[in-house]
Amino acid sequence: MLLGPPGAGKGTQAQVIADRLGVPAISTGDIFRANVSGRTELGLQAKSYMDAGDLVPDEITVAMVKDRLAEDDAKGGFLLDGFPRTIAQAEQLRDSLHELGQALDCVLELVVDEDELVRRLSGRRVLVDGQWVQRDDDKPETVRHRLQVYREQTAPLSGWYDSEGLLTQIGAIGAVEEVTERAMSALETCGGARPDGPSAG
Ligand code: AMP
Repeated sequence: MLLGPPGAGKGTQAQVIADRLGVPAISTGDIFRANVSGRTELGLQAKSYMDAGDLVPDEITVAMVKDRLAEDDAKGGFLLDGFPRTIAQAEQLRDSLHELGQALDCVLELVVDEDELVRRLSGRRVLVDGQWVQRDDDKPETVRHRLQVYREQTAPLSGWYDSEGLLTQIGAIGAVEEVTERAMSALETCGGARPDGPSAG
């Protein structure tokens, strides 16, 4: 699982690391955005929270992840990006994985100071229908709110996973490739990079 504030580079790293490990990257933010674009019921439920920079309620998010984890491609392992984001989500994830006979191997926290995060998020542009646009939730006032939500609701997961013996912190400033190498070496020590590991995460 990749933990870290908005703008830490979780999405970018998740794609590369999941590719190297040969497992799917499961990003709750991406799943929500796809549902918003597709105007599904789930997208309609999530949109107002996302636009405000708030977390989508746990019951909606957890049900969505449970369905995703039960798909075939997640049976041999997976990389979570952007989930869990609250202690309640982490507890429910642990229970769901237990039911599936799985457990997280490793939680990697990407550490970046807040000035750098604000700089990255306000300059970020994403490709939509062939055009580079700013995500609505990357507007300056929403960015500040998302960072506050992170501090209050998600940052406590760092201590929670540390007490479970699963946490490794890595500095996430530098070139994408450098951060990937730090992540891959960290995964080796916590067991997540085992190609034939007994569990997933
Ligand atoms: P992200 O792309 O991970 O920054 O997520 C974008 C937005 O999707 C967040 O600001 C939340 O509104 C929503 N979201 C993504 N993951 C979660 C989660 N685990 N719990 C609640 N809301 C989430």
